[in-house]
Amino acid sequence: MLQDKLISKIKNLQNFLLMIHEEPDGDTLSATVACYLALRSIGKKVSMVCKDDIPRPFLFLPAVKFIKKDILFGDFDCIIIIDCGDLKRTGFAERLKKFAKVSKNLINIDHHPKNDLWKIANLNLVDQNASSASEIVWEILKKIPIAVSSDIATAILTGIYTDTGGFKHSNTTSQTLKIASELLIYGARLKIITRNVALNKSVSALKLWGVALSRLHKNQELQIVSSVITSEDLEKCRAVHADLAGVVNLMNSIPDSSAAILFYETSEGKIRASLRTEKEKVDVAKIAKLFGGGGHKKAAGFTVEGKLKMNGQDWEIILK
Ligand code: 5GP
Ligand code: MN
Repeated sequence: MLQDKLISKIKNLQNFLLMIHEEPDGDTLSATVACYLALRSIGKKVSMVCKDDIPRPFLFLPAVKFIKKDILFGDFDCIIIIDCGDLKRTGFAERLKKFAKVSKNLINIDHHPKNDLWKIANLNLVDQNASSASEIVWEILKKIPIAVSSDIATAILTGIYTDTGGFKHSNTTSQTLKIASELLIYGARLKIITRNVALNKSVSALKLWGVALSRLHKNQELQIVSSVITSEDLEKCRAVHADLAGVVNLMNSIPDSSAAILFYETSEGKIRASLRTEKEKVDVAKIAKLFGGGGHKKAAGFTVEGKLKMNGQDWEIILK
């Protein structure tokens, strides 16, 4: 079985690099730090890398201070990429391709619909039915086995909590809740998770949410709810991009809408879109794919070259 193959690699190899995807979310970060703590507890050398900064709500996670922004890949026996089906979203595509040419130990642990990373990885533990990559990592850690500390349990529960929207989304299965219960028994600190992840909004963030909400627009034909945030809005509210996390989920709480889309300008001068739906018949990953992005049926995203042009409360997207 694939899980056994991975566990035998973990046992036989010494020096691991764990890779977090760009614009990191709770799942990629939590699953990675849990893996880091677990592998170190069995005597492995482990490093973690993420191209982008760690958003403030996740700075409470154990071991985040050891995440590096860049590192030489040549020193590692094995690279494990967590929660990132898309090679581009690792932020290190070219260097990973080079690593894959000389190593048989490039591992992909993910729960997104299969896209391009599986083509270069030697082992793909991809389970689309898992609520999160953290859930997959948990099953592996239990089997190694490792001694589960309350830090490891807290990290795994954080990943599950964030990817299920606090157990609200339909990816919350009976298995997810069973695992959450196990994690609490191992000492996971749910209160700290909710305090940091769900109840941790700054004045700037809430002002920015106000701007996005004040611009809500519902398309009468398609019943899609949308809004925009420009770089100027961020400046005016003294907010950062990470403050936008969660806005699109709130926009998606309107029962008779078919989907919610939030467009926002990135610091690189591009436009990013975050898509959500609650409808069984709508697949937002398919929409995101049309624009070169991807994701899950119910949560997806893409980035395009372009600018947002505001006209009062209305907007226009000008593609390059
Ligand atoms: P978010 O809207 O929170 O940025 O992303 C929602 C989901 O879509 C996440 O699970 C994320 O992995 C996926 N996603 C977002 N942007 C992209 C993208 O550009 N490419 C791919 N493949 N997936 C994306
Ligand atoms: Mn995930």
